Amino acid sequence: MSLPSNKKRVAVTGAGGFIGHHLVSFLKAQGYWVRGIDIKHPEFSSTDADEFLVLDLRRWESCLEATRNVEEVYALAADMGGMGFISSHHAEILHNNLLISTHTLDAARQNGVQRYLYTSSACVYPEYRQTSTNVVALKEEDAYPAEPQDAYGWEKLITERLCTHYRAEYGIETRIVRFHNIFGPHGTWDGGREKAPAAMCRKVAFAKLTGNPEIEIWGDGEQTRSFCYIDDCLEGIHRLMRSDYSQPLNLGQDRLISINQLADLVSDAAGVSVQRRHVPGPEGVRGRNSDNTRLRAVLGWEPQISLEDGIRKTYDWIEAQVREQLDSAEPLRSRSAVGVA
Ligand code: NAD
Repeated sequence: MSLPSNKKRVAVTGAGGFIGHHLVSFLKAQGYWVRGIDIKHPEFSSTDADEFLVLDLRRWESCLEATRNVEEVYALAADMGGMGFISSHHAEILHNNLLISTHTLDAARQNGVQRYLYTSSACVYPEYRQTSTNVVALKEEDAYPAEPQDAYGWEKLITERLCTHYRAEYGIETRIVRFHNIFGPHGTWDGGREKAPAAMCRKVAFAKLTGNPEIEIWGDGEQTRSFCYIDDCLEGIHRLMRSDYSQPLNLGQDRLISINQLADLVSDAAGVSVQRRHVPGPEGVRGRNSDNTRLRAVLGWEPQISLEDGIRKTYDWIEAQVREQLDSAEPLRSRSAVGVA
């Protein structure tokens, strides 16, 4: 394929996934030439990428192909899911994500990529700082002394270090973003890898459409988190890539709510009342919030979209998926309860 010389050429790994799929469309709308790479095609709609390569990025040769002839790489590919998945697949997650992250970064360096954005996670923060529901919001420097959440969090922290050292020793301009619970339409909503907002929307939609008002929640539902809508996430990622800031940066909302409150918000969006049934299950840390002081200082911006608006858009899309599945009379693949990462 001949590549354009008049547009900045970028690659997005994980472009078949939730954030990567949206990021491809966002970058296309900004005028970039975009290559998407993933081990699978996007599940819910076709990609806007100029070129889409189906590759297994655990393999070094695939990473060389993925990062050839582009100036910038947004590295989103990861083996991941919600709390149920990341608390029970440690070996698989650590093995796969170490290979993906290490090979992609090194291949990008060898191909002369100028800028490289790595998508880390709030799971790098130590569990000992997240033991109460009324938790102090996490500042970037709170990641040390390290005690990340699960193997998933350890890989994120190690790759952050790898990016920092590659920048210092090899000159590739690395950027590191720590997401706090990104949600929106066109993300996994059933099957076991879905995260809390999508799982909650599915449960409530199912309750509404079947007339059975009961929804299951893992634990007492008092565990707290903040949730950030996808459009804010895309804006933040792009601003960070364009900035000269190379240290890790939080990207999330700083409005702390409990999982029970999330259930209420989703029920309001659905216009239905539900009965919560609390069941044992993986709950993750007791509380987690993003301190956005540095985000505001570095980007001159912070997430704008209210949780209510984001939930409404997400709920409407998931209700349509559930309706389609019920209409086709297929059993739901999974009816997991609601937890959080
Ligand atoms: P996602 O699971 O929807 O997307 C990840 C994509 O990576 C998937 O499409 C998957 O097929 C792809 N992938 C996995 N293994 C691969 C391989 N071997 N080769 C090529 N592609 C492979 O997840 P997402 O929510 O879009 O997350 C994107 C990134 O952001 C991930 O790195 C994730 O860890 C990080 N993150 C997300 C959140 C969130 O709330 N969604 C929070 C913190 C961090």
